[in-house]
Amino acid sequence: MVHFVGAGPGAPDLITIRGKKLIAEADVIIYAGSLVNPQLLNDAKPGCAIHNSAYMTLDETSAVIKHAEAEGLTTVRLHTGDPSIYGAIAEQMHELDLLGIRYDVCPGVSSFVAAAAVLDQEYTKPGISQSVIITRAAGRTPVPEKERIGSFAAHQATMVLFLSAGKWEACREQLLEGYPEDTPAAIVYKATWEDERILRCTVGTLAETGEASGITGTALIIVGDVLGEEAPKSKLYDPAFETAFRSSHNKR
Ligand code: SAH
Repeated sequence: MVHFVGAGPGAPDLITIRGKKLIAEADVIIYAGSLVNPQLLNDAKPGCAIHNSAYMTLDETSAVIKHAEAEGLTTVRLHTGDPSIYGAIAEQMHELDLLGIRYDVCPGVSSFVAAAAVLDQEYTKPGISQSVIITRAAGRTPVPEKERIGSFAAHQATMVLFLSAGKWEACREQLLEGYPEDTPAAIVYKATWEDERILRCTVGTLAETGEASGITGTALIIVGDVLGEEAPKSKLYDPAFETAFRSSHNKR
């Protein structure tokens, strides 16, 4: 059995209880060493075989899993954040399907929600934005033309760019296709890690801020008017607004 486990954004206590238990019970752990906090491996049981997938190909990780299965062992495949977001799990699941190996997924705290937490930020403010666009700049992995940052920018919704640190000017240019220059933006580097950094800027100053930071990876770019000062009240706590739990006449 293989468990894909979301390790969370970095801080070792931001893994789920289930994920922590799966790590403690695993015979084999394959972790994404470039991004997963190695402190999470402290829970592994003595004798657990630990592999860093940063140095391995898909064929090599599959071979480790195949070997473990043949011996009736349990493997944890530890991914940063939540495995469903840029986790490259689909190709691994496909391999396991071909090999007839069972698997399941334990979700994790994605870095984009960790970034909101460290910014003390709500991404969905009434009257400002009720949507969060998660995307990335094209890199070695291409992005479909119809999903260009520039075309999403037309919505002026809250946007989170993964895997885009370093491509500052390309991001700025495409964001400007839809967002005004003074739209607030933030760069969050290693959210919840000890060396976390937060840089605030605007879409117009994103490239110079990013360049000056020296940050080239493990960062998110967050853009949108929700990052601004205004905070209109939501309907949820409005005394005139009824919810399933509270009628507007029932003031207790
Ligand atoms: N599955 C992960 C994302 C993997 S892709 C998740 O759900 O978060 C790797 C990218 O995620 C990095 O390039 C960076 O853009 C982002 N990332 C991962 N951890 C991060 C963190 N702690 N702080 C900021 N960005 C992070």
